[in-house]
Amino acid sequence: MLTKSVWNQFASPNTYPSLNNDITADVAIIGGGVTGISTARLLTQNGLNVVVLESMKVGGGTTSHSSGNLYFTVDKNLSQFHDKYDFGVIRKIITSRSAALNQIEEWVKEFFLDCDFNRVPWFLYSGIADNNSKIESEYTYAREADVPVDWAEAAPVPLSFTKAVEVKNQAQVNPMRYVQELAQAIQSDNLSIFENTRVTNVNEHKDHIVIETTGGTVTAQYAVHATHTPKGINILQTLLGPYREYGIACPAGDKHFPEGIFWGYHEDGKKFSSLIYERNGHRYVLVIGEPHKVGQSEDSIKAIRNLEAFAEKHYGLTEVAFRWGGQHYRPADLLPYIGSESKTSNVFVATGYSTDGLVYGTLAGMIIAGEISETPNEWAGLYNAHRFTPVKTNVAGRRRTVGSIGSSTERTGIVYGILQSLPSCRECRSGSINH
Ligand SMILES: Cc1cc2nc3c(=O)[nH]c(=O)nc-3n(C[C@H](O)[C@H](O)[C@H](O)COP(=O)(O)OP(=O)(O)OC[C@H]3O[C@@H](n4cnc5c(N)ncnc54)[C@H](O)[C@@H]3O)c2cc1C
Repeated sequence: MLTKSVWNQFASPNTYPSLNNDITADVAIIGGGVTGISTARLLTQNGLNVVVLESMKVGGGTTSHSSGNLYFTVDKNLSQFHDKYDFGVIRKIITSRSAALNQIEEWVKEFFLDCDFNRVPWFLYSGIADNNSKIESEYTYAREADVPVDWAEAAPVPLSFTKAVEVKNQAQVNPMRYVQELAQAIQSDNLSIFENTRVTNVNEHKDHIVIETTGGTVTAQYAVHATHTPKGINILQTLLGPYREYGIACPAGDKHFPEGIFWGYHEDGKKFSSLIYERNGHRYVLVIGEPHKVGQSEDSIKAIRNLEAFAEKHYGLTEVAFRWGGQHYRPADLLPYIGSESKTSNVFVATGYSTDGLVYGTLAGMIIAGEISETPNEWAGLYNAHRFTPVKTNVAGRRRTVGSIGSSTERTGIVYGILQSLPSCRECRSGSINH
């Protein structure tokens, strides 16, 4: 079983040195994925001195395992958001994601990033009539949230469908090349990137932070955990559900397939995502799906076989060139956690993106850079990493009589809120990272 994604074949890697001495910086960013590099771009643009510490290769983490789809909406349907939030909030989510998608496009154009960024339509369809109601409710919620959604009557969906909706002007990118090319393009005197440099400890003191690594120490005013999920002991981990999802890439030969993001509900309500990717004359159909909670039904071979069966049945493709799996983290109240760890901390986190993190990772850069540069971003409050939302962490809880505390998630939310409301003692806060 191969474990590298298709993006590795077309990577644009640069080699950065490892850290081997003690240095200082305004901001130390831990992790060189889409979150870390986007944050670095915006902070250096604001004149700060930034260090990126990457334990492996820039762009080689979860970013390189994604599908490369960029869209305003979210993988978890808007109907689920509507169970927890009013349309005012849902509109803000859509607007903030749209701004982040535009930011990605701006950088692609500004730096001439060779990363196959294309504007394409996004489709959500039902492969069988049993799932039509899902599409109908998504259409209604999307309209209400001002998403420019339309019915796709005779759309170029390559798969047979019983009902479909379309949002034009979404996008696709080679995510690994995008991050690698962006990192290369933003090189400057106030940015240092170190690879093969693992952060082992983050110690926040009263007026500075000491970041210990396998090669030396960085003393900084601010630290950003851009590691997909905060490493070490972090209370946020109790609010995140770890999931695994799989992908395959099948050579498409000369067969014609239209461009677009195709998310479909099929038998047993299963959702599959598929798309076509082409570079240097190589064409692949990618199929992504079969998510499961980590620790439950860990049969990755079966998951990959199901994706292969999907590719054969719906695209007529039997050869598979790449197979991979990747982890993602679903937040209890459906929104990512982005911002400072607590009201008084200069350590920032960005996590809980579900499978929407290429756009959320960019948005995290916009929010965190805004907070550090003291030009707060208008969406910072929505994604606040130390928000206290005990009821929204559980839908059932919202519907229960006020005052009753039931689920463990809800109780965790309350414990978290109490912990966050305690004054922080920087001298005694330290986070050991064993990754
Ligand atoms: C199968 C799958 C499909 C997906 N499809 C999409 C999609 O189509 N669209 C979308 O928007 N999102 C998608 N996602 C989600 C998206 O890939 C992630 O949310 C996003 O890439 C996270 O970016 P990141 O920079 O936060 O994390 P990463 O890309 O994982 O970067 C974190 C980096 O931190 C480094 N690191 C970790 N620990 C340390 C340490 N101690 N010291 C130093 N460095 C460290 C890692 O090596 C890594 O390079 C998908 C995810 C999966 C799993």
